[in-house]
Amino acid sequence: MRVLSVASEFFPLIKTGGLADVAGAMPGALAAEDVEMRTLLPGYPAVTGQLTRTGAIATFDDLFGGRATLRETAYGSNGTPLLILDAPHLYDRPGNPYLGKDGKDWPDNHLRFAALSWVASRIGLGLIESWRPDIIHGHDWQAGLAPVYLGNADGRPATVITIHNIAFQGIFPAEMLTPLKLPRTSFTMDGLEYYGKISFLKGGLAFADRLTTVSPTYAREICTPAFGMGLDGLLRHRRGVLTGITNGIDDEVWNPETDPAIEKPYGAATLEAKAVNKAALQRRFGLDPAEGALLFCVVSRLTAQKGLDLLLEALPSMLAQGGQLALLGSGEASLQEAFLAAARNHPGRIGVVLGYDERLSHQMQAGADAIIVPSRFEPCGLTQLYGLRYGTLPIVARVGGLADTVIDANQAALLDGVATGFQFAADSASELQTALDRAFELYADRPAWRAVQRRAMGRKVDWSVPAKAYAALYRGAVEERTGSRSEERRVGKECRS
Ligand code: ADP
Repeated sequence: MRVLSVASEFFPLIKTGGLADVAGAMPGALAAEDVEMRTLLPGYPAVTGQLTRTGAIATFDDLFGGRATLRETAYGSNGTPLLILDAPHLYDRPGNPYLGKDGKDWPDNHLRFAALSWVASRIGLGLIESWRPDIIHGHDWQAGLAPVYLGNADGRPATVITIHNIAFQGIFPAEMLTPLKLPRTSFTMDGLEYYGKISFLKGGLAFADRLTTVSPTYAREICTPAFGMGLDGLLRHRRGVLTGITNGIDDEVWNPETDPAIEKPYGAATLEAKAVNKAALQRRFGLDPAEGALLFCVVSRLTAQKGLDLLLEALPSMLAQGGQLALLGSGEASLQEAFLAAARNHPGRIGVVLGYDERLSHQMQAGADAIIVPSRFEPCGLTQLYGLRYGTLPIVARVGGLADTVIDANQAALLDGVATGFQFAADSASELQTALDRAFELYADRPAWRAVQRRAMGRKVDWSVPAKAYAALYRGAVEERTGSRSEERRVGKECRS
């Protein structure tokens, strides 16, 4: 089975969030299921700069306003096959893949990601003679137009769109229809029209054969007005082809026993070594070197979605109970300011690093006792999975993938030995505070805390389970597609005879 994955991020080449981790881990994970996955990526400088040996396999004289070359390469020690869309007029810009230096979206993002989807659709129709995919699997709005461009072209591959976050939809003015080479017929209520504008994501959700999102709970949630961000009606309509598959983590990258970024490797049997990482983290964040202080951490984008304003409200109670907080993140200025102010007001107790630092994020997972993820909505969430793997107990809002991956340490779960963290009702500072209180209570009983840590570290959070689910989904989509194609041929023949 050949699958073309189409993504705007790919760890470790270019990353702003969880999408990169997922797109980066999938090819290796799916290989074990006999799926040959190639990933099509924009040729940002961060990508082209890290890939030396690439071969040109197709050229485009005018790809949405400039010359472009499709290049192939094998990346990393496993030789992961990548297809790079080298289009300097669209992608040769430094920094973040979506935003300019001023923090605003690039004004031609519609062209940049339409081009990616358009080239994906050409590959789907046989652009690369020796490698024609059975499936095109697009991630988020940046790949949403691929199924639209394919339409019902004869011999097209089956299509899958995965929603990593429905808050980002790629909405652009209707006048862009012609510059984007989109057929007029696609601009309908059942297609990519969204309140008079073009929605890349809606197009993908309307046209793809299969839809997935990154956890079963989020799949249910986005079918409701509270979480569907205006697309719940369409998703209810397409509920029959929508599946939630919880993300895994790449356990070669996230493994406390082998992690080169951390002070001292440890495992479930050598948990005492975690203390060395805790001391190092306290030093790094200027926190008091108190081994017994319950050290919470946060690694997150600082946006309303992530609910960190709730944590600000819960800080006094956390501090009163002797807790410490290390926060790594960047985003909205007001949240950055508020956490910096909290750190100034509570030296030795709260430490804040603003920015994006992959290595430090590993050190935080290794050194902290618990990780707080108070999101208002969370499609899957990865930091709580890393927390489980590193014995850093997740304290999570009961939404989306957070609800699906952490077993709350309530009395029954503790008695049965299945608890792996703490859950609380989302969007409530007092509920978060209660969860923090419960964490302090458990931490006071160190053997009980250790038992939950070991349990968390033993949870299977790698890609083996989701890889099987994606492989089964691909098989079903291909069978349906090829079955319906032979059905179409048969009907066509009957009509002619
Ligand atoms: P989202 O994709 O919504 O940001 P996820 O939990 O799915 O949230 O994935 C976030 C990913 O980005 C994780 O790998 C996390 O460790 C990483 N991350 C988030 N913020 C930072 C940061 N400031 N520095 C380093 N890594 C970060």
